[in-house]
Amino acid sequence: MNKLLTPVSALEGVGPKRVQALNQLGIQTIADLLYYFPFRYDDLQVKDINEIADQEKVTLKGVVVADPVISRFGRRKTRLNVRILIEHQAVQVTFFNQPYLRDKFETGDEVAIYGKWDAKRKSMTGMKVLASRNGTTDSFQPIYSASKEIKPGTIVNLIRQAYDQYHDDIKPIIPEWVVSKYRLMPEEQMVKNMHFPDSKSLADSARRTAIFREFFLFESQMQAIKQDQKQPENGLELKFDNQALKAFISTLKFELTGSQKRVVNEICLDLKSTSHMNRLLQGDVGSGKTIVAAITMFAAITAGYQAALMVPTEILAEQHFESLTKLLEPQGVKLALLTGNTTTKERKTILSELASGRINLIIGTHALIQTPVKFHKLGFIVIDEQHRFGVNQRTKLREKGNNPDVLAMTATPIPRTLAITTYGEMDVSTIDEMPKGRMPVQTSWVRSNQMPLVLRTIKDQLDAKGQVFVITPLIAESEQMDLKNAEEIYNKMSAAFSGQYQVSLLHGQMKNDEKEAVMRDFTEDKTQLLVSTTVVEVGVDVPKATLMVIFDADRFGLAQLHQLRGRVGRSSRQSYCVLIADPKNQTGIERMVSMTETNNGFELAQKDLELRGSGDVFGQRQSGMPEFKVGDPVSDFPSLQVANQVANEIFQIDPNLTKQENAGLKSYLDYRRVNVVSFD
Ligand code: ADP
Ligand code: MG
Repeated sequence: MNKLLTPVSALEGVGPKRVQALNQLGIQTIADLLYYFPFRYDDLQVKDINEIADQEKVTLKGVVVADPVISRFGRRKTRLNVRILIEHQAVQVTFFNQPYLRDKFETGDEVAIYGKWDAKRKSMTGMKVLASRNGTTDSFQPIYSASKEIKPGTIVNLIRQAYDQYHDDIKPIIPEWVVSKYRLMPEEQMVKNMHFPDSKSLADSARRTAIFREFFLFESQMQAIKQDQKQPENGLELKFDNQALKAFISTLKFELTGSQKRVVNEICLDLKSTSHMNRLLQGDVGSGKTIVAAITMFAAITAGYQAALMVPTEILAEQHFESLTKLLEPQGVKLALLTGNTTTKERKTILSELASGRINLIIGTHALIQTPVKFHKLGFIVIDEQHRFGVNQRTKLREKGNNPDVLAMTATPIPRTLAITTYGEMDVSTIDEMPKGRMPVQTSWVRSNQMPLVLRTIKDQLDAKGQVFVITPLIAESEQMDLKNAEEIYNKMSAAFSGQYQVSLLHGQMKNDEKEAVMRDFTEDKTQLLVSTTVVEVGVDVPKATLMVIFDADRFGLAQLHQLRGRVGRSSRQSYCVLIADPKNQTGIERMVSMTETNNGFELAQKDLELRGSGDVFGQRQSGMPEFKVGDPVSDFPSLQVANQVANEIFQIDPNLTKQENAGLKSYLDYRRVNVVSFD
């Protein structure tokens, strides 16, 4: 048994209370403790005051020249000032609300103080008083996150104890050649120097190794999962009817783009193979993913299996159902639609026909993953706008079949820098070409005082027989406010175009059949201007729409704006997008400008990432996005990239990690496999 898996209770001074506190920090075993790394170090090295940058945190060492003075301000606030002499300069150090520190300073004492430097005033805000000592061994202090129940000092002591007793059991995990090729620290050295570095350079080097290690192990896990999926016993072999498939493709009204043909082939190869398919189809808004889904689902059906298409909204389910019925019913496919809106009676029939296998293709929302839904022989699942679903929801649908093949589609462009981590265990197919004859949407940004201009633009499009979407502001705090806004804008638009054009309103609080009716009227051009909240954000396809107007555009993420803009420009006519926004800062201005400058979703997502940081790109925190403890996939991207390459290389040469050099990695992964529930 690996000794590092010994529970922390084996350490001296760790009783049930501490065990509990440690568990709360995610620490159960000695290994957890040893790999509980500090999140930063405070550099307590004494510096020359002329070399300190403004706001830098440093340690100053000097002689106290006068007894400290305490002054009070506000209610119960104090300020303690002490002057120290450094070389020949007097420096004022201020501590806030720590009057008890007075006893630490006496005229003539030599002291060291850690704090934040103000270069202009040549003064410091003190954070810590370090006993005046001569040696510099303790000059570099690791800082751990702790909790109320357990102090950082306690954690440090426990780590020290664990390291002293168990360091011989820290075994290499990263293969030796990788360690030497990339000049990493050996595992045991890395652990040591993460916690007890003797110098900044050792700490840096340990951290560099720890970051690489974290990425490398993640990428290796992904490779191991892929390896499992490739095992013949883990997948379905869908022997589809190639003739029927070709015949179906020849009935389409348009020719597939080169990209579409390529991805259809990639998916079909996966269907036919005995491996489990777990594939992501990415393609910008409007690139034509739906037809790819239709063709490949039809393939699965000709192989004698059922297919399911899960989408995030009812409007989208409705629309897919209609368009797929037109395409596939003539091929003898029986389709059904299942949403929260389906009547109890319809539902009953659908459930029984799904279980008997009479229905070949089901299209639906989350309703599909509810318990009573049973399939006869589910072989292929397509998840549209997959980023809208959580990991659990995807897994639940998968469990409705005997490990069916899965195709996840997304138009939310994952920036290059995040793609590696987000889709590590998936194979990726990309549509990187728009259907022929599409013209890029022309985007402009106006301020809210330019409404007359916006109204004129709307009128021009309507007069030219185009249709118009107007998206109303999103006020996350209150649906009531959203509605009020939407109604107000609807009234204005109705007044502006009364007698000329039909204006309709769509919002989240409407009943389902009302929503459907409004959407249908718009699709059929019975109404020309649709005022809507963001419920039309994803997927909706109304080719005659040529103008998208978005109010308060700066409240949206760039990815979301791009999705909304993708509702137009779906035909060969020139389309337009008008963003109405009064951004309050430079970042906001830059975001609007980048929308007007590029139509490429991937570039935009990358831009958003740079402007707002990775956490915000998706609006809500992405399920499925792994969280790293040491590394940051954005700022440490080069390391991630190398880790990805190295893991690929290792698994290509030694897929089952049977070589001696990979033994450490294998035992780590075997342990993790048992202890990790599921990645997808
Ligand atoms: P998305 O990738 O955003 O889901 P859709 O699948 O909704 O895009 O396709 C957008 C529009 O393009 C639809 O109206 C669809 O019929 C049309 N389309 C798809 N492929 C082609 C093609 N190869 N040629 C012409 N039009 C196409
Ligand atoms: Mg779509």
